[in-house]
Amino acid sequence: MKYFYTLALCLLISIQVTAQNQDGFYATMSLHHAKALAKDVPNEIEILSTFRNEAAVWMTQTGSHKLHDRILTHGPGYIYRNSQEEAVTAIQNPQNRLADNTRAALDFSITEDATVIPTLDLIQTQNIEDHILELENYGTRYHNRASATQAAVDLKTKWEEMAASYGRTDVSVRLFNHSNTQMPSVILTIAGAEIPDEYVIVGGHLDSTSNQGNDNAPGADDDASGIATITEATRALFEVGFVPKRTIEVMAYAAEEIGLVGSNEIASQYAANNVNVVAVSQFDMTLFNGSSNDVSFISDFTSGELTSYMMSLLDHYNASGEHQVTYSTSVCNYGCSDHASWTGQGYMAAFPFEANFGQHNGNIHSTGDMFSLTNTASHATKFAKLCAEFLIEVAKNNEVLAVNDVLASSIYVTIQDGILSYDFTASQKEVTSIQLYSIKGQEVYTTTTVSERDQVTLPTLSTGVHIATFNTENNTTPIVKKLIVN
Ligand SMILES: [Zn+2]
Repeated sequence: MKYFYTLALCLLISIQVTAQNQDGFYATMSLHHAKALAKDVPNEIEILSTFRNEAAVWMTQTGSHKLHDRILTHGPGYIYRNSQEEAVTAIQNPQNRLADNTRAALDFSITEDATVIPTLDLIQTQNIEDHILELENYGTRYHNRASATQAAVDLKTKWEEMAASYGRTDVSVRLFNHSNTQMPSVILTIAGAEIPDEYVIVGGHLDSTSNQGNDNAPGADDDASGIATITEATRALFEVGFVPKRTIEVMAYAAEEIGLVGSNEIASQYAANNVNVVAVSQFDMTLFNGSSNDVSFISDFTSGELTSYMMSLLDHYNASGEHQVTYSTSVCNYGCSDHASWTGQGYMAAFPFEANFGQHNGNIHSTGDMFSLTNTASHATKFAKLCAEFLIEVAKNNEVLAVNDVLASSIYVTIQDGILSYDFTASQKEVTSIQLYSIKGQEVYTTTTVSERDQVTLPTLSTGVHIATFNTENNTTPIVKKLIVN
């Protein structure tokens, strides 16, 4: 340990001399890649310290580009660090501290069929396609371009409007401003109704890059596809009227391509504030169908437990039929995407990827990363389904508002054009009173009646999810139905 410290100090002195004329920064990366790069371009990298198979380095921008040339990679292949001390400390704390992680509260149960199954039918491939094209049309989303910041600002508006269109007053969207990039991240929060201080997070990165010049970096697959995937999964959750017990956050990270900068700042802040994040899933590249299996779960820098839970979700919900999704596992590389920022802070993260690593889209990080390459988002749709399953099963349906299983098919309830229609004749239940609640649990309407079927004219209601409670004669348990007012 002392040896490394002394070595690092000596190197620091030499680096400071070099650094004066160069555009360099601190990072951590795999020792193997660091050594290869140092041999190839000795002036562009200094290895400051090593621990096991990781290295803390100082590297120039040229060095980081050489890393891309040398190693066929997705993602930066390194993690940006603010200082030498941070870089050295980061590798001495093993990146995956799950063994002594006391934060995890996830029980890995699969219980939410009543919500998940209707949600799968709501996910629209067309919405994913439209959103990818929207993002591609910025021309570039390279983190230091004005268009990247604009994309973040516009995504905030898009998510706010999406939540508002379903009347979701429990949803907020914020920009997260960073120290090491001018581009903000975007975070959508669905407040947990029962356990708001436990978080489940899905994310993708909003920025793009191109080895051929960053003024033309469409980034359709990498990673407009991930942003479109998590957006459509979230929209489907709104459409089905899902109200989570735990808080859900949907994140569009800034500046992933320059060393996971956005996600690293967010995960560091969450860890510093002791935020209880129970599970994270990354969605980075979902468009290109390059392997015989649909989903490749990345097995390095991820949680094995959480990964096998996501496999169980696919076994449970997607084993066959129109929603079938097949899967395998693959390894990525050092810091290949934002999940590594979360595992680096001791949180459980998983990363379902578009193909086995190496069989993924060869056009990423180029001007050719365009939607027209696949011309369909059918592959991404499978990831949106997995994303929705993950969010619903980890966050869990708020029991107070849960759809009552008793109802199933024998009871018919709708709200249309301000009229509540119900028909309980098939179940021979006579309704004695009805209460209607807003999503916040406020009673907005009540009536007493004696009928198996009726049409009730309602007062003007706010749009979005409402809960109707039907009390019936000889039945102590009210029948609860979730309804959407348009
Ligand atoms: Zn990416």
